[in-house]
Order: sequence, then C-alpha cells, then structure tokens
Amino acid sequence: MFDRLTSEQIERYSRQIMVPDLGGKAQLRLCRSRVLVIGAGGLGSPAALYLAAAGIGTLGIVDADKVELSNLQRQILHATADIGRPKVESAKATLTKLNPDVEVKTHPVRFDASNAEQIAAGFDFIVDGSDNFDTKFLVNDVAVKLGIPFSHAGIVRLQGQVMTVVPGRSACYRCLFKTPPPPEEILNCQASGILGAVAGTIGTIQATEAVKYLAGFDDGLLTDRLLVYDAKNLRFREVEVRRDPQCAACGAGAPSFIQLG
Ligand SMILES: [Zn+2]
Repeated sequence: MFDRLTSEQIERYSRQIMVPDLGGKAQLRLCRSRVLVIGAGGLGSPAALYLAAAGIGTLGIVDADKVELSNLQRQILHATADIGRPKVESAKATLTKLNPDVEVKTHPVRFDASNAEQIAAGFDFIVDGSDNFDTKFLVNDVAVKLGIPFSHAGIVRLQGQVMTVVPGRSACYRCLFKTPPPPEEILNCQASGILGAVAGTIGTIQATEAVKYLAGFDDGLLTDRLLVYDAKNLRFREVEVRRDPQCAACGAGAPSFIQLG
C-alpha cells in the first residue's frame, strides 16, 4: 500500500486532481479502491473505461460471454479483432492498455447465487451492468448483505435508468421493485434493441457515482431517487424512492441485513 502519488500519477491524473472537490487525497483514495463491474457489455464498457482512466486501483470484471459481432455497436471495451474472445480477456487487454496502473481481475463466469458473495466480498463499490432482472436483484441483495454500495442501471431502446444504493443509508433496488417483473413484461436489449450512446450515457453516470463515492463525497449521490433518461426527447427526470421498512433485502425483518453507520 502506497501513501503518496508518483510524479507520473500526478501528471496522468492532473486534470481531475485540479478539480476542487477531488484533489490529491481523493486521487489516492481512488488509487487504493476496488470496484467490481458486473457485465463487460453496454453499461460495463463505458463504466470500466472511465474507472480505469480515473486510476481505480483494482477493477474486477465478471462476464461469462464471448465477444460477438452484434455487441460492438455499444460494448466499446471490445473491437472487431476480439470477436470470439472471452469478454473478460478483451476487457482486461483494453483497460490495461489504457492504464497499466490498474489491476484487472477477471471472473469468466455468470454472476449467480452460487458465487456472488465470494466474488463481491472485498470490493468497495459495485457497478451493476447486467442485462437481466435476476442478476439485478441478486446484485442488490448481495451488496446490501455485504454492505457494499453499488450503482444499479437498466437500458432499453432509447431509455435508461440509474440509481445509487448505499446500504444502511438509502433505499435499495428491492425497496423500489419488490420482485422481478413477469417474463412477458420484460423488454431487453437482445429482443428490443438499444442505441449504443444511451448505454454510454448511463454507464458513464455509473462511473461518476463510483468515483464520487470512493472519493468521499458525503452528499450529492444519486441515492433515494431513480434517474430516468428519455433519449428520444432528451429529457431526464427523477422518481423519488423511499426506504421500505418491510423490504425483503434491507428492511428490519431481513434476516441477513448488516446495519451500517
Ligand atoms: Zn430495500
């Protein structure tokens, strides 16, 4: 563990160190931080790129898939030559090329109930870039149980939504949506399409929230409100989210909830 930035790091990160709300101390915190990115796809790509560029010390990447031609319109961690390659490998190569200071840990598996706690343990923040409701609820429940703040997001067509959860301090995803929707109500990217730049906007907001949290911002996080992006009309709106005392994940009755300060 280092306690000061090298001259090369000071130069690399100079433009964000200059930002009055950040500075050298925040940069040191970022360099010591560990962020888990679930899914190296449309959301995980921009999020991981900005987190690596910002100097996050360790990035964990979870994805079981291989790169396909139809991914490249939005999954900007991967290039044409990567088709057929495991996404975690392609992601690691891209991120390491961008910033060799970042340690990239790859998990070429599907994030599921059998491995979720083991993979997530020890991370300081989670970016949920998954593309299905089962994983989104699992990320919420595991993050709440382990007390790890995370950014939830979803995208489809020309719409996105994003919310930050700080367990013990803010509403969680399950406070908002109790259970996954029935299959017939689900629009997903594979079946419904997605504009790549919409994924880029939402994934970038997730990276912004991760950096803010890790840098020590006490307020201003996207907590207790769901930000909804309508790219067709270029409008953002917010939906207030309240903690549900009966929430199965973070409520008083939740058996595994760890109350944090
Ligand atoms: Zn909750």
